[in-house]
Amino acid sequence: LEAKEEFEHSSLAVDVMRPRRADPALAVLTQESMTVGEVETLVENTHYSGFPVVVSQESQRLVGFVLRRDLLISIDNARKRQEGIVSASQVLFTEHAPAQDPDGPPPIRLRGILDLSPFTVTDHTPMDITVDIFRKLGLRQCLVTHNGRLLGIITKKDILKHMAQIANRDPDSILFN
Ligand code: ADP
Repeated sequence: LEAKEEFEHSSLAVDVMRPRRADPALAVLTQESMTVGEVETLVENTHYSGFPVVVSQESQRLVGFVLRRDLLISIDNARKRQEGIVSASQVLFTEHAPAQDPDGPPPIRLRGILDLSPFTVTDHTPMDITVDIFRKLGLRQCLVTHNGRLLGIITKKDILKHMAQIANRDPDSILFN
């Protein structure tokens, strides 16, 4: 990201984050309520580089962030090497396993591939601050929250697109902003 590019002071994280209003919902994983089959379906049906992990769909409390690549490799390895892993196996990102059905298949434990402190900003964070953080920390993406609930994601490419839009805008509209 170029340091010389300036931002309109009025842009906020909520203006740049995805999903946009008309987009499909943010693709998230839950920390202990999804099966291997469900995770595989979500990953195969989307092209995102990563997925936020939340406590539950209802709470949308952020637990961490997992890269698509790491998820695919770990599930593939577990299916090949770990006894009894099937599509119905639970995927666990938690430290402790919840009570398990003794007759059910063993779970896959994936806490090891979870980034437990992904960078987050709130929806009202000005974009000039967010861009500064991206530059200084060399981020590829950052998550957006409101009152502790996960709202969206901003990638480096989203920022570059937003900058290009501002650069192309009618100069008069910037003047009167
Ligand atoms: P990039 O922006 O580098 O192409 P991605 O492929 O991860 O990176 O993301 C593509 C688009 O989808 C971006 O606009 C990003 O904000 C959005 N996005 C990324 N991850 C998710 C996700 N888990 N759910 C919904 N949208 C996402």
